Amino acid sequence: METGDKKDIRALSKDQLREFFVARGQEAFRGNQVYEWLWQKSAHSFEAMTNIARETRNMLDTHFVINHIEVDQMQRSADGTIKNAVRLHDGLVVESVLIPTSSRTTACVSSQVGCSLDCRFCATARLKRMRNLNPDEIYDQVVAIDRQSRFYFNKPLSNIVFMGMGEPLMNYKNVLAAIEKITSPEGLGMSPKRITVSTSGVPKMIRKMADEGVRFKLAVSLHSAIKETRTEIMPFNATFGLEELRGALEHWYEKTRSRITYEYVVWEGINDRPEDAEALVAFCRFAPSKVNLIEYNPIDGGEAFRQASPQAIEMYVQTLEREGITVTVRRSRGKDIDAACGQLANKS
Ligand code: SAH
Repeated sequence: METGDKKDIRALSKDQLREFFVARGQEAFRGNQVYEWLWQKSAHSFEAMTNIARETRNMLDTHFVINHIEVDQMQRSADGTIKNAVRLHDGLVVESVLIPTSSRTTACVSSQVGCSLDCRFCATARLKRMRNLNPDEIYDQVVAIDRQSRFYFNKPLSNIVFMGMGEPLMNYKNVLAAIEKITSPEGLGMSPKRITVSTSGVPKMIRKMADEGVRFKLAVSLHSAIKETRTEIMPFNATFGLEELRGALEHWYEKTRSRITYEYVVWEGINDRPEDAEALVAFCRFAPSKVNLIEYNPIDGGEAFRQASPQAIEMYVQTLEREGITVTVRRSRGKDIDAACGQLANKS
């Protein structure tokens, strides 16, 4: 990414920064110092790099820019959830959310501006995909939420979920680069076990992740284990079908030994029959997994979708539990400020 003829300095690796200094007759070690300012200390200007000589800072300034996000607007929900409208260096906006509970604080981050997929029940799908986020733009959302967590809840951020705007596996390279920075001691040093990547299910990329030995957790937005139903509500299912998804998930478990979470909303008249629950049970048998039943958050234009009755949810819980499958029923957070799952759409 370039602004005029200045390069985005955070697109450089540590080695590249070291080489930059060596090429100018300076010590490679300066590269390490600058790298630390850029990532661990999240400096927004060369001016802030106080252990670097002024001439060197000025020299950096003539070659590079430090792109960074700005939290443009922050909204707080009655339940403590915080939603941020995050402005990127080119003026585009994404949203990220801080979800506090008594035991943890979770950052829900975006991976794309808009989304290329077409889930009928999701507000983000109404925005077309404008572009992928860069690794630093994902990293910066986490840093901003970590600061809010410390400020408002007196504790560091404990978990991260890639459940904001966008399909993380359609921006695979940058998402992995961001996670690498988040987990590295040179970044935030967070454990990968506290990070969950949520995908609508892109089989090829699930296989690739498994082969690369990633250590974060995987969640899949399943919503139906019946082909026709899933294709109706998530039309891309016609291309990446359930059979292929199943193969990829089996492969994931074989390689990572990490249990998969299925996210699942039950809607009236769509997937609230006993046979829908039975199909989910059958799907859960393919690889060790658990189910999160999530509440539907109504969206503008989503009138075809209505949250199923408490009886239907209970039917799912009983069917799954009877088969020994772990199931949790998750209540939505931040609904009053449109910060809940599927509601992120840059309304403000
Ligand atoms: N693209 C990724 C991550 C973003 S969506 C994915 O599909 O997993 C995060 C979760 O919110 C997904 O499980 C998605 O299916 C769910 N979701 C989308 N719209 C929703 C809505 N209106 N109500 C409840 N959950 C919704």
